[in-house]
Parts: sequence; C-alpha cells; structure tokens
Amino acid sequence: MGRLAPPSPFHRRYESTYRGYQHDALQFLPLRVRYRPKCLIMELVLLLLRWLRDAFSGAMLPPVSEKTLFQKIMDREEPGDILYEDDLCVALRDINPQAPTHVLIVPRNPIPSLDALTEEDESLVGHLFLVAQKVAADEGLTDGYRTVFNNGSDAQQTVAHVHLHLLGGRHMSWPPG
Ligand code: AMP
Repeated sequence: MGRLAPPSPFHRRYESTYRGYQHDALQFLPLRVRYRPKCLIMELVLLLLRWLRDAFSGAMLPPVSEKTLFQKIMDREEPGDILYEDDLCVALRDINPQAPTHVLIVPRNPIPSLDALTEEDESLVGHLFLVAQKVAADEGLTDGYRTVFNNGSDAQQTVAHVHLHLLGGRHMSWPPG
C-alpha cells in the first residue's frame, strides 16, 4: 500500500479558490436567506409565546368585578361622609341632600334593588331600619323623619345597590313627587 501523495501545489490553489468562491457566494445572499433556519426557529418561538400569552392571559387574571359606587365609598376608594358602619351596613350622607338630614343606609352586600331581595335578606332589611332609627336619634330628628327605598326607573333609582333613604329636619308633603 503506497502512501497518499501530498496535495500538489495546483490542487491546493484549486481548493482555496473554490473555498473563496463559496465565501463570496454566501456574502451575496440576502441576510434573511442566509440565516433562514435561525429565523424560522425564532419566528416559531415567538408564535408559541404569543399563543401562550393569548391562551392564558384571561385565565391568569383575577375575575374583573365592577364595584358599585357605594362599595367604593365603603372601601374608602371614593370619598364619602360616613356616619355609622357595622358588619352589615354603612350609613353615609347623601351628596345631594333633599332635606337638612339626608342619609343613605346601605348594606355591604351589593344587592342591586328591592326586587332582588330574598327571604335570606329579611333580617338585613330589619337591621337597615334599626340603623335608620339610630341615625335619626343621633341627628336629633325628634319631630319625625321619612324612610324611602326607591326601586326601579319609575321611582328614579339611580344607584343599583339597594339603599334606604333617611330624610328629616323639615316638614314634608304627601304624596311625594
Ligand atoms: P337613588 O336615586 O334612590 O338610587 O339614590 C341614590 C342617591 O345616591 C341619590 O340621592 C344621590 O344623591 C346619592 N349619591 C350619588 N352619588 C353619591 C356619592 N358620591 N356620595 C353620596 N351620595 C351619593
């Protein structure tokens, strides 16, 4: 077995010329084509990440629960003149008083209206009236007062969180407007 002959000077020149052509040819290719396999992988990874974000963003976030105006006042997220509070309700001054004393007694539970009350709320409603009685006494309404639940659009209910109005400090007419 004879040994392989060392590459001839011609052969070496041919090889280096050939490699040079390869190198030059790569240089002429546009970037996106030269690095195509890497681009494809990156694009696939980005697509996967986007899909994961869209698929799980809803599930990972806590459920959005819109608080009522009165809940925000109770939670001190909105200003409010709170006169009394306990585990079941809060009494706050009405921002647009219709009498010298106008207080709203609002259950902590955001029941939307009188219509939405159930038998389970029976004692809660009684409690709201007892709180009205207490606030009336604190406000010095010795000559009487009125308590009102506005229910629905005909009664001009504007806040969908049931509340008892306590009005006093002036003589009132009947029927109400
Ligand atoms: P109603 O119309 O029976 O639903 O009663 C809603 C009452 O909430 C009205 O008398 C309003 O004047 C009163 N009100 C509205 N916004 C506020 C607030 N930020 N603080 C206190 N009372 C408010």
